[in-house]
Amino acid sequence: MRYLVRENLFIGNISAAAEVLEGKEGSSDITHVLSVLSSASISFFTEWRSSISIPTKEIRRVLAGDVDAGTGALSPDKIVYVLEYAGKDLKIVRMAVPIKDTEDENLLDYLEFCLDFIEESRKQGAVLVHCFAGVSRSAAIITAYLMRSERISLEAALESLRQSCESVSPNDNFLEQLKMFEEMGFKVDCSSSIYKRFRLKILGVFSASLFCDSYSRGEKMDSSKFGADPGLPQEATSPKPEICPDGNAKSTVAYRCKKCRRVVAVQENVVDHTPGEGLSAFQWHKRNSGIRFDKSDDFECSSIFVEPLKWMKAVEEGALEGKLSCAHCDARLGYFNWSGIQCNCGSWITPAFQLHKSRMDLSTL
Ligand SMILES: [Zn+2]
Ligand SMILES: [Zn+2]
Repeated sequence: MRYLVRENLFIGNISAAAEVLEGKEGSSDITHVLSVLSSASISFFTEWRSSISIPTKEIRRVLAGDVDAGTGALSPDKIVYVLEYAGKDLKIVRMAVPIKDTEDENLLDYLEFCLDFIEESRKQGAVLVHCFAGVSRSAAIITAYLMRSERISLEAALESLRQSCESVSPNDNFLEQLKMFEEMGFKVDCSSSIYKRFRLKILGVFSASLFCDSYSRGEKMDSSKFGADPGLPQEATSPKPEICPDGNAKSTVAYRCKKCRRVVAVQENVVDHTPGEGLSAFQWHKRNSGIRFDKSDDFECSSIFVEPLKWMKAVEEGALEGKLSCAHCDARLGYFNWSGIQCNCGSWITPAFQLHKSRMDLSTL
C-alpha cells in the first residue's frame, strides 16, 4: 500500500516499493524511490522475498567521511547513502539510506540528504518514500520534509501526514531528533549546542553498550567519533565534521593549558549549559518546558564542559571515569565521567568532560 502525501510524494511499505521496482502494473507514475531500510543493499528485497530480483546500476556511494558536515556522529566509513538506477530497464532512481528503527539510531545525520533527494525527485517526477512497515522511519523523514518545506512545527507536520496515512508513528527517538531539527531552524546545524548534545547522546549510548560488552574485555573506544584535537595544527587524515562550512569566520576562543600553553579546547568544543538548570545530554527537550532558571549574568561556572576530544587518552582507553590530563605536559586539567558530573552551579551534565577554568588560560587562536 502507498498513500499520497503531497503532489508527487508518496509514503509506503516494502511491498509498495517492491511493486514499483518490479514494474508492476499501476506503479509507472513513480520515478524515484527513497528506501530507508536497515541495509542500503538491494539484496534486502531478495532476503525479504526470495522470488524478487531487482537489477540495479550504482551511480554513487557516499560515506560519512566523504562529506564535510552533518554527519558528525557517524563513523567515517559508514554509508550515508547509495544512489542507483533500479528496476526493469533501470528506469527508477533509487536512493538507499541505512537507518534502523531503533531507540538509539541516528536520524539527523542522514536527514538533509534524504530531504534534498525528495525535493529534487518531486521536480523530476514522483517519489515513493518507504521503509519496512511504512510506519516509523519513512514517516519520520516525510515529517521532516513537510516541516522544512512548509515551515511548520513537528506537531503540525505529523498531524498533516496522519491525514494522508493514519497509521504513521515515528518512534520516540526519531520524534526527539525531529524536535531538535525544528529547534535548529529546520536544518542540521552541527555548530549548535543542540547538535553537540545530540552527538554526546549518540556517544553516550555507544559507551553504554561498550560497557556491557567490550569494556569488560578491555577494548578501546572508537575515537573517530571524538572531536578533533584543537591543539594539533590540522588533522588532514581525518574528516572534521564538527566544523560547519557556514562561512562564519568567528574569532576562535581557545582554552590553553596554564602550565604549558598547549591549546586543549576551542569554543566550538564547548557544550553549553544554563547555570543551575538540571540539563543533561539526555534531557535536551526540557529546554522548551517550564521556567528557565537563568542566573548566568551574575554567576560564573568554575568549569567548562566539552565534547570528548582526541587528546583525551583516558577516555579513548574506555574508562567510565577518570582524570583529564594535558596531552603535552600531563598537568591535571579536569575530570570525565560518562554517567555525569555536577557543575558547581548545580547543573548535571551527562556525559561530562569537565575542564577547570583555573587550570587554563583564555586566549584567541
Ligand atoms: Zn600542559
Ligand atoms: Zn555550571
